[in-house]
Amino acid sequence: MDRPTIRLRDSLRREVVPFTPLEPDHVRMYLCGPTVYDRAHLGNARNVILFDVLARLMRHDYARVTYVRNVTDVDDKINARAAETGRDIRDITEETLGWFHDDMAALGNLAPDVEPRATEYIPQMIEMIEGLIASGNAYEAEGHVLFAVGSYDGYGKLSGRSLDDMIAGARVEVAPYKRDSMDFVLWKPSDDGTPGWDSPWGRGRPGWHIECSAMSKALLGTSFDIHGGGNDLLFPHHENERAQSCCADPGAGFAQIWLHNEMLLVEGRKMSKSLGNFFTVRDLLDQGVPGEVIRFVFLSTHYSKPMDWTEAKAREAEGILRKWRELATEGGTPDSSVLKMLRDDVNTPGVIAELHRIAKTGDGATLAASAGLLGLLVPEMGAWAEAQPGGIVEAVLEARTTARAEKDWARADALRDALVAAGVVVTDGKGAGWEAGPGFDPSKLEGVV
Ligand code: AMP
Ligand code: ZN
Repeated sequence: MDRPTIRLRDSLRREVVPFTPLEPDHVRMYLCGPTVYDRAHLGNARNVILFDVLARLMRHDYARVTYVRNVTDVDDKINARAAETGRDIRDITEETLGWFHDDMAALGNLAPDVEPRATEYIPQMIEMIEGLIASGNAYEAEGHVLFAVGSYDGYGKLSGRSLDDMIAGARVEVAPYKRDSMDFVLWKPSDDGTPGWDSPWGRGRPGWHIECSAMSKALLGTSFDIHGGGNDLLFPHHENERAQSCCADPGAGFAQIWLHNEMLLVEGRKMSKSLGNFFTVRDLLDQGVPGEVIRFVFLSTHYSKPMDWTEAKAREAEGILRKWRELATEGGTPDSSVLKMLRDDVNTPGVIAELHRIAKTGDGATLAASAGLLGLLVPEMGAWAEAQPGGIVEAVLEARTTARAEKDWARADALRDALVAAGVVVTDGKGAGWEAGPGFDPSKLEGVV
């Protein structure tokens, strides 16, 4: 079959390249997933949305897609959280993963095909580390196993850094047991209070990078199609994954395309837990910003560009989606222009421009089917738009009129306060009219009457 070409930007070759799956008709992709110790912040959603859209496109174009997104459930940040709170580690990771699932689903992301947890792949990690020691790419020292960076010629190629840059840029841990300061941990010892597994090097736990090398190999094989994450993972995480995997299985090639998204910014700086300038996906949802609106805002910027989250963008997106939802009908097929944009390096802003064009023609069936490729205008995401903002305001106003007629002044005042809090400007007079004032948020009136 003559298949349309998908083009993607490969971080290793630093150019947009045509994509052909290594196995005919089967696309295999791996996204580095969350470390489960805290709620996802808004930035964490960016790569999930990108990979969800990519998986939708691949499923459209190919018979079979295996999309793997791992869960890092063994990590020193999780251990630290358990120590701070006195809670059980498993309780923390289970609860956090549940939140992550809820939040990502609220943003319209479908579940990946496989979601491996690092703690379920410890034997595979140990086996890979043993192989790396046997091939001379790793060495044991004081209960640690380290990857010998100098043993791999390709080190630094993915992130494009020289060894000097890497030493200067990375917060490399200087440790007496390291032969070279750049060598990184594959395995480290655990004390009695820390999760650990028996290994040829004593009781211990894996380093972060080896987790993804072992899980991707177990589930996708020694070579697969697309590997991705935020561009903050290029170094050291992906550089190290690549070194481990390419040395463990020389010649296999590991990922054929490395796909990295740019960061979400807040006022020009990366949103991050360590900078303290973050808000969670749940914060926004709880403020009444619909998940579909958040998704639209993300997709309005190409993944390769930094993206600023602003309330103005969210308001604009909400207005557009309301209009489109009124127009949308079932039974259409995606417009070819939309598929063309998506196949051109996941050009989601280009898709949105096409959706505006289609909406203007009034073809609601093509609009809905086309937007569906972005996970927008799908029925499951539409509850927020069903709630008529006017309807709820009218209902509260009517209750207030009734309360006044019944001389229930306390209730009438309470209802007026609720309207004011929701940003409704009551233009009293004969008919008790109203208009939306600053900070208008009809969701605040839910449950009032
Ligand atoms: P972290 O929260 O730093 O543990 O990162 C978890 C995941 O979220 C990684 O895949 C990062 O690439 C991604 N990530 C973290 N911060 C941002 C951000 N500000 N914008 C986009 N992606 C981010
Ligand atoms: Zn990873």
